[in-house]
Amino acid sequence: MKTKLGQDILCHRADMNDHLSRLRDKRAKGQKLKVGVFGITGCAGCQLTILFSEKFPALMDMIDILAVPFVKEQNYKGHFDIIILEGLVSSKADKEKAEELRARCDLLMCIGACATHGCVPAMKNFMNHPEVERAVYAKVDYLNSLDATPVSKHVPVDIELPGCPPDANQIYAVLTDLVLGRPPRITHNPVCVECVKREVDCLLLQGKPCLGPITVGGCDAICTAAGHECMGCRGPTDDANLPAMIQALQDQGYKRKDIENRLHTYASLLVDEQAKMQGVKWEKKLKRKKNG
Ligand code: SF4
Ligand code: SF4
Ligand code: SF4
Repeated sequence: MKTKLGQDILCHRADMNDHLSRLRDKRAKGQKLKVGVFGITGCAGCQLTILFSEKFPALMDMIDILAVPFVKEQNYKGHFDIIILEGLVSSKADKEKAEELRARCDLLMCIGACATHGCVPAMKNFMNHPEVERAVYAKVDYLNSLDATPVSKHVPVDIELPGCPPDANQIYAVLTDLVLGRPPRITHNPVCVECVKREVDCLLLQGKPCLGPITVGGCDAICTAAGHECMGCRGPTDDANLPAMIQALQDQGYKRKDIENRLHTYASLLVDEQAKMQGVKWEKKLKRKKNG
């Protein structure tokens, strides 16, 4: 099932196989793939995930990272095989940048929860924008703020890797697949599956408010394995059962208001959309306020 927000982690564009075959040809000719790493509204944590990863140097024989405006002054201005994009569309400038970058690459890979489903910044959609802006900035006239939306709302996206931040190993694995010209292998299982693989003692069963049962895996259960409950940063699975999750947490003694706040922290747009489809009524007054 594909939600209105485009939460399918791998968006199968009709021409994906053509792109993969072209990437295979390039590799066969010994040509490196042209890759760029860009950011729009976000905290740069996703880009830092790539920059700090110890794995990426292993790919440098096969890819050229020709642009990272976050850390490089001189950046390639031409067309890329793959653009990796962090951040969400939250202003007119973001929208224009996303459109420009889409036109400059064969494959657009969005990384991080901001890019894939709005993450924490999307909470502003449920607040009064001018009030939020004035609370943060001294001058607001230049902001041209829009509702916070994922990149796929504005341009076609080929691959989406959620997470706040996204998992470096997953980005590496997907890039490796692309370099080899094969379809990326991306999990759609909930975090619980990864807990089982890692033999994590279930935190929910210990009474902690873990959102793992309804959250897309792929992070190798990094939080739960360290003893912290899953906060749902990778967004809900397509078949997430919200009423059952809410009931399970209420049965543990958690207040409905706190459960709703937790569900909305990293994935308010997707959770809200799924709640509508599943007939969940929020106790907390959550009103979408349109702005652009
Ligand atoms: S997904 Fe998280 S780490 Fe990435 S830009 Fe957004 S807030 Fe930062
Ligand atoms: S700790 Fe959370 S993610 Fe892990 S198995 Fe239990 S409920 Fe699932
Ligand atoms: S365990 Fe949950 S909160 Fe932690 S990285 Fe994975 S999806 Fe995000």
